[in-house]
Amino acid sequence: MKMSDTLLDSPIATMNGVGEKRARLLMKLGIETVRDLLYYVPRSYENRGNIKTLSDGTDGNTHAFLLTVSGHVSTARLRGNLTVSKFRAFDDSGSVEVVFFNQPYIKDVFREGETYRFWGKLTRSRSHFTLSSPKYEPYVDSVPLDDFVPVYTVTNGISGKIIDKLVKTALGYALPHISDPMSERIRTENSLPTLAYAIKNMHAPEDSNALSRSLKRLAFDELFTFALGIRMSARLNEERDGIKCSPCSVKPLTDLLPYELTGAQKRTVNEIYSDMTGVRSDRFRPMSRIVIGDVGSGKTVCAMMAAYIAIKSGYQAAMMVPTEILARQHYAEFLSYFEKLGITTRLLLGSTGKKEKEKIYRETESGECSMLIGTHALINEKVKFKCLCLTITDEQHRFGALQRAALQKKDDRSHLLVMSATPIPRTLALAMYGDLDISRVDEMPKGRLRVLTYALDESYRPRILDFIRKQVSLGGQVYIICPAIEEKDGSDDTDSENLTSMKTEQGPFRAEKGIHLKNAVDYSRELSDALPDLKISCLHGKLSSAEKDRIMTEFAEGRSDVLVSTTVIEVGVNVPNATLMIIENAERFGLSQIHQLRGRVGRGEKQSYCILMSDSKGENAGERLRIATTTYDGYEIAEKDLLMRGPGDFFAQNSDNNLRQSGGIEFKFAKLCNSTELMDMAFRAAEKTIREDPELMQRENLLLRDEISRLFRFGRAPIS
Ligand code: ADP
Ligand code: MG
Repeated sequence: MKMSDTLLDSPIATMNGVGEKRARLLMKLGIETVRDLLYYVPRSYENRGNIKTLSDGTDGNTHAFLLTVSGHVSTARLRGNLTVSKFRAFDDSGSVEVVFFNQPYIKDVFREGETYRFWGKLTRSRSHFTLSSPKYEPYVDSVPLDDFVPVYTVTNGISGKIIDKLVKTALGYALPHISDPMSERIRTENSLPTLAYAIKNMHAPEDSNALSRSLKRLAFDELFTFALGIRMSARLNEERDGIKCSPCSVKPLTDLLPYELTGAQKRTVNEIYSDMTGVRSDRFRPMSRIVIGDVGSGKTVCAMMAAYIAIKSGYQAAMMVPTEILARQHYAEFLSYFEKLGITTRLLLGSTGKKEKEKIYRETESGECSMLIGTHALINEKVKFKCLCLTITDEQHRFGALQRAALQKKDDRSHLLVMSATPIPRTLALAMYGDLDISRVDEMPKGRLRVLTYALDESYRPRILDFIRKQVSLGGQVYIICPAIEEKDGSDDTDSENLTSMKTEQGPFRAEKGIHLKNAVDYSRELSDALPDLKISCLHGKLSSAEKDRIMTEFAEGRSDVLVSTTVIEVGVNVPNATLMIIENAERFGLSQIHQLRGRVGRGEKQSYCILMSDSKGENAGERLRIATTTYDGYEIAEKDLLMRGPGDFFAQNSDNNLRQSGGIEFKFAKLCNSTELMDMAFRAAEKTIREDPELMQRENLLLRDEISRLFRFGRAPIS
């Protein structure tokens, strides 16, 4: 290990000013090493360089002011232990009362006649101005203050000030040790600043230009290393040997299906068949294929065909899905066919009883069980296969990658089939899934009724209640999606912070002023009062996964009529009986997301509806909702979404908290991209790098190679 790595990867507790206790608190924020600290991304920036005069300050808004203290600090005791300290301060345009609560030491901080830069919320009532608990820095002519001040996510016991101080310390001694894995050539070709510059300016921006250049560089890094890593994974797969399946007929299975496969399904099954039986390739390697198809396009049956091919050859197949309810649904579907074909199928969940588990372990090891379906319980080390030939994973997001790999490791020669319900644009798909062959199920089964979609505003509210009642009386069920969990919960369940300057001012995720966000908890209560004879349940991300599963199952089995939920509702769940979906604050959702949500209804025979509720006056939101009501094709929607919003939200979706544990790249910066330009640049640069140096063996690429091995946790160097 190089000296610089040792220093950057040393535990945070080795820093001056960090004891054991503080280290533990920092850990909560995900900061374990000096490197983590340097890469700790500010949540937002305060533009304190933009100084306002008091008379220009607007009521209720936060500004920076340059004020001189004009009197003594007086401290008074209110009820209980509450103290309030006040003093007056002024600038050329007027004066203000500055107030601090419970900070009696304030009287020793401010001196009459001295000037400070304040940052805080101004309250104006007639001629009376107040500044409540502002932040402050002494202003001395000769010492310039930073214009942009980073705001970090904090935790109890670790203030922003502490983080700021630690970051500055780390920048001071560790920055010179940061080696830039990107070659000078790629850097200059793409007009990017150095890594050290970018990290420094992320924490202490010289000006707004330096800040945006830096964030751009860091986003580029993520996309660039990601694209390279994907290429390396593909190489690893090239080296593996696969289990060759014998040619067979899938007719016994297709004969059982109550429908005919669509053209796209047939094509997909043929591609899978030639991968697994090796009729196409000269050198046999295992299948690594992703099936991408719009919701409802019928991907499951393709997976079932693949399993059938493996099992017909005398081997085993396993299917892993993210939740228990999905596992149960898939199990029921597989079982309904496989039972008739004499294929032993088992379901393994975390909640499966101990005895049953033991039995399944035995049957799997002996080969008696041919088809195993379950959750991540499948990767338990007690699960041993006699000969695992195929692993199928059904994932909404790209990066269950490591779990997927863990299952595949049960037999290094097994074929891999991934199912994805996100119809992503072609350009993005090539980059994201560069390590996999792609099959597209781009045709819907015949005879599907469109989910009629309408965008409505609040004036329709009373009629909505009637519509809910009507759908339920016709035997249907209703989904209602809210952006927030609870009142005062400004953030929604899946939303990401998007505060830095790369994102446009009014991102679609940002609440518009004056628009109240519907929250699932209150909504379901109010609805229960309004519709007392209906059973209404409520689902959101703060519930335990067992709880979530229970509520979702209850709805799927028709034991509740209305499900009020945040966006956590399971994407793959099939409730054919659901005929109405109402999306509240629809302006807050991206087009693709609306399309995904809408895919929950319209799965049965009955006509289904999707109502997009919004009072937004925003032009962009209006356009999006208009597209949603007129376009029903997932790919077309995904293309439009990418054009309108940039790829950032796509990366945000793929960047969950478990990533640090699961390996892969967390798109902390890339999720802020609002145009495809940077993404294209980064992918092109990766393409070029690989073309010129396929094994990354040239000197200028060696650091890059290390970096990729580290991020992707390749068991061994991806290239030898
Ligand atoms: P998804 O691609 O979203 O996973 P599913 O595989 O769950 O979609 O299929 C959705 C529904 O369509 C299921 O009820 C399935 O039985 C049905 N289905 C699949 N293929 C066809 C087909 N070719 N014709 C008619 N119905 C089909
Ligand atoms: Mg599915």
